[in-house]
Amino acid sequence: MARSMSAHCSKLTTTLVVFFLAWSNHVPEAAEGAPSWFWWPPSGGGGDDPNCLSWRVMVEANNAKGWRTVPAPCVGYVRGYMAWGQYYRDVGSVVDQAAAYAAQVAPADDGLDAWVLDVDDTCLSNQPYYQAKQFGPYDPAAFKMWASRGICPGIPAMQWLFQTLKGRGFRVFIVTGRDEETLGSSTPANLAAAGFSGYDRLVMRGSGSRGQSSMVFKSAVRTQLAAEGYRIRGNVGDQWSDLQGDCVGDRVFKVPNPMYFVP
Ligand SMILES: [Mg+2]
Repeated sequence: MARSMSAHCSKLTTTLVVFFLAWSNHVPEAAEGAPSWFWWPPSGGGGDDPNCLSWRVMVEANNAKGWRTVPAPCVGYVRGYMAWGQYYRDVGSVVDQAAAYAAQVAPADDGLDAWVLDVDDTCLSNQPYYQAKQFGPYDPAAFKMWASRGICPGIPAMQWLFQTLKGRGFRVFIVTGRDEETLGSSTPANLAAAGFSGYDRLVMRGSGSRGQSSMVFKSAVRTQLAAEGYRIRGNVGDQWSDLQGDCVGDRVFKVPNPMYFVP
């Protein structure tokens, strides 16, 4: 009898495992805006593929340039990285470094010591959007529609850094390549809803800078800030194009983004 029960349990376990594996490979994509933990576990393969880890390190080190989409075998890996804690752990580590550095810089009484922060996937997360799009190539119309909803979640470690910088007496400028004409109301509303209130200026891309690369546009913005007398002490972005060019700041901090590349 005991042996029969044991065999029965073993069969049941096998059935459950097979069912689980089949289900985990066929879960639908998360609905846009759905919490990332909802569709568990990550599907799509590549979850622990060492080649995908190499690809991500290459991307973060800026050795890969101009890539247009996550390689198909690594979609599952990127989903897992973004949704299962490592991404937020990595952002937290960057923020720790930025805060430690900021603590060593004493802002002068003239109020001209400043930090520059990017918006997309630095202050606000587009993870729900890109996850729903299977981390596919950039789609300007669809992204604009998503961003115009103003529902991007704030990235918690960056919310903390933002408040810390303000509390230390730094000026905080938020600089984004988002189009001012179409996203000029949803972006500040989204930032405020996500805990980013009280910055000194939000600079968006106007008609005069349409078509410029992000690096050219942001270099011009920082050059203007420097011309106004601001000393950029730190600069935080998820793209190397946020952190290269002119007047980048005394130190730059790159937060991870294996979802897309902006030149
Ligand atoms: Mg960005």
